[in-house]
Amino acid sequence: MRSYDQPLQSTVLRYGAAIAIALLAVVLRGALVPWLGPQIPFITMFAAVALSVWLAGTGPAILTTLLTAIGAQWLFLDIGTLSSGTRSALVAQASYLFACGLIVLFGAAVRRRGARAARAEREGRYSEQQLQSVIDALPLLISYVGSDRRYRFNNRTYEVWFGRRRDELRGQHMRDVIGQAAYDTALPYVERALQGETVRFESDVTFPSGPRHVGVTCVPHRVDEQVAGFFALIEDIGERRRAEHARAHLAAIVESSDDAILSKTLDGRIVSWNAGAEQLFGWRAEEIVGQPILTIIPPKLHAEENDIIARLSRGERLSHRETERLTRDGRRVPVSLTVSPIRDASGRITGASTIVRDISERKAAEQALRDSEARFRNLADSVPMLIWRADRHNAATWFNRAWLEFTGRAMPQELGAGWIDDVHPEDRVRTLATCGEHTARHEPFDLELRLRRHDGEYRWLFDRGVPTFDGPGGSFSGYLGSCVDITERKLAEQQRAEADRRKDEFIATLAHELRNPLAPILSAVQSMHLQQAPSSDLQNARDIIERQARHMSRLVDDLIDLSRTSRGGIVLKRNVVDLAEAVDLAVEANRPQLERAGHRFELQRPAEPVRVDGDLTRLAQVIGNLLGNAIKYTPRGGHVGLRLQRDGDQAVISVTDDGIGIPARQLDRIFTMFTQGEAPCEGMPGGLGIGLTLARQLTEMHGGRIDAFSDGPGRGSRFVVRLPLARVDTGQTDQGPRKDEPPAASAPLSIVIADDNRDAAASLAIMLELGGHRVAVAHDGAAAVETVARLRPDVALLDIGMPQLDGYQAARRIRSLPGGERVRLIALTGWGQDADRRRSAEAGFDHHCIKPIEFEELQRLLAEPAGTAAADGDEHLGNGGT
Ligand code: ADP
Repeated sequence: MRSYDQPLQSTVLRYGAAIAIALLAVVLRGALVPWLGPQIPFITMFAAVALSVWLAGTGPAILTTLLTAIGAQWLFLDIGTLSSGTRSALVAQASYLFACGLIVLFGAAVRRRGARAARAEREGRYSEQQLQSVIDALPLLISYVGSDRRYRFNNRTYEVWFGRRRDELRGQHMRDVIGQAAYDTALPYVERALQGETVRFESDVTFPSGPRHVGVTCVPHRVDEQVAGFFALIEDIGERRRAEHARAHLAAIVESSDDAILSKTLDGRIVSWNAGAEQLFGWRAEEIVGQPILTIIPPKLHAEENDIIARLSRGERLSHRETERLTRDGRRVPVSLTVSPIRDASGRITGASTIVRDISERKAAEQALRDSEARFRNLADSVPMLIWRADRHNAATWFNRAWLEFTGRAMPQELGAGWIDDVHPEDRVRTLATCGEHTARHEPFDLELRLRRHDGEYRWLFDRGVPTFDGPGGSFSGYLGSCVDITERKLAEQQRAEADRRKDEFIATLAHELRNPLAPILSAVQSMHLQQAPSSDLQNARDIIERQARHMSRLVDDLIDLSRTSRGGIVLKRNVVDLAEAVDLAVEANRPQLERAGHRFELQRPAEPVRVDGDLTRLAQVIGNLLGNAIKYTPRGGHVGLRLQRDGDQAVISVTDDGIGIPARQLDRIFTMFTQGEAPCEGMPGGLGIGLTLARQLTEMHGGRIDAFSDGPGRGSRFVVRLPLARVDTGQTDQGPRKDEPPAASAPLSIVIADDNRDAAASLAIMLELGGHRVAVAHDGAAAVETVARLRPDVALLDIGMPQLDGYQAARRIRSLPGGERVRLIALTGWGQDADRRRSAEAGFDHHCIKPIEFEELQRLLAEPAGTAAADGDEHLGNGGT
């Protein structure tokens, strides 16, 4: 349908239409002539003009008017109605033109109104569509909610937020769309909007899809003074708020930063300037913003700024570039620059932000470090010590002149791990391991190693490495080491150790050699006991020999023990033992001396056992030694006391006397080997100065300690031994034989004795024969085997060190004889080490006895039923020795 504001567009068309309409009206009027004649000549013309004005507009309608007037003139000229020149014709014509003029005016007015209305309608429709698409495009929720809280309208954003089509939402209750939680939050505001108030609020709201921080505006809509509903605008302002926070944070950081932070345009104008920049450069922001950046750059560095700008323009970032900047008062400050390009929204680089850090202090510290390093190297080069440095990975970084002169190598050869070539091959692994372990723990270390000197000789060095750190509390940076030549000391130590070893060897050999003559003396004396002495003089002489021989035997035992403890050769045979038993053994051993000295002896011990974890024999030896000294160093008729008690978790044994006492200066020295103080009391045999040394060593092997106290010369002494009590009282005690039990007499036996020391063999033979046994004697190993093969004895007592066959070989041969396994083989030897015992057991001996053997002990052994090898019990057979 043609609209009012769209008449025929082209002028030609419009005027063509006007002509056609005029022609049509004239022709139509002509056709009506038979019926109407000249009556109402313009009847069709009026309609034509009206049509023309409506279709083609004012101009064409005037043309139609003129053409129809002319057409009418032409039509009715023949019939005379409108004869030209007649008055009535003129009136008719004029009336027609007037009427047509009115029609044209009216038509034009109607057309204009119609066009305006059409345009208004079109425009209205257009702006509504525009509005709709704008509302849809807005990133807000926009809705209209009726007073029944149901949606009448929702924009498209609802679809995005709630995932539902908006035509589904229309008519829905708010609660069903935004969820109960959000509805509860919104409800008070909704109420207020429905009461006619425009409401605005911000809140955290939980929608079914999750929480959002929103800004909500509700605008009431009134119809006839009544609130019919409200428009709701809901905006997610979480992102905006976060951005605002971030911006505020950033601004606060920039403002509070100690670093100067500034920005500039690409043409080098300062745009922003923080407090740090004011501090560093002395310019206030309002003074410098807008000024050229060159203001703070020293003139000779202006070219550098061009370079920076060029690189920025290419989008590059500069990190920690060290340079200088100029302060307001003309000072040049060393700084570190970090410059980053700033881009606008389209990504175009528009300027740069710069962080300027003042590094004056660091530069000064670096300089100070360089100075101190130079001083250190000067100093280190001038000392005669070998000095080195290594980094945190244990790689050598520097050696002083003395080192390089010592090794005769150049610095590059020594650096890193090069120096290890100078170390003696046997010391390399140990050296590297020590360095590596301590480097891992950042601990100091000491090391002894051999280093090759320039002349090829290896010298012993004492090397001390100390960890270094980057300033106080700083991180580990490596090691500083110094070495001194200790070759002379090492040699002296080696010589001393060698001398010690030889001394120990000598003592061991000496003691062994002394034991050999002692054995027959004691055996001989013991056999004399078995016979009636012819006179009391001889009896006295015999007792003197026995006493002195026993004393000497004890000294020899001590010597052997001492050389063994100093070489770690003593192994304790530990058991839970009652110390009272050890005390008894010690008292018994010293009884004769006590009686001879005429001392008053007081013994105190608790009724209940005092158990310790120890070696009964050794503990008795310690106590016996202290008791012996108390007797020895107390003038005749003095007082000697021995007390055993518990003190907390310790057992305490104190030995007291009122004898010669010990000067304070000697109290500690007396425990040192071969140290002797005052001469012992008259009539008492002296010593070697080893008893206390041995006692202390044995006590310490038991985890205990021994101390000496004295108020000075003439005021007596007190020795106190402390031992840890056994933790668990197992009730198990040392099962060693008790000395006070008389040995059971043995049944007569057939015995072969083999010893190359004829005196020893003879005296032992006499002793055994007096005991009722049948004895045969051999003086070498081969004879021993032969005698045993011949006599098939019950027992063979074999010395180990014999010519021809030694004791071990003889024993093996005897064991291989027919019936040889039945013979009880007893080794008699001066050697009592564990290794010696093992050897004798391996050779087939049943027992291992140490010379000089006590007759009573031998008798106890012979009385044992055949086949009971008492390897451990043998310990008691020697005279308290091993
Ligand atoms: P020895 O008794 O063989 O000399 P010791 O090692 O047993 O060796 O003793 C070392 C020294 O300690 C003795 O020489 C003596 O001077 C001193 N001494 C030991 N016990 C006593 C004591 N009870 N009273 C005084 N002096 C003592």
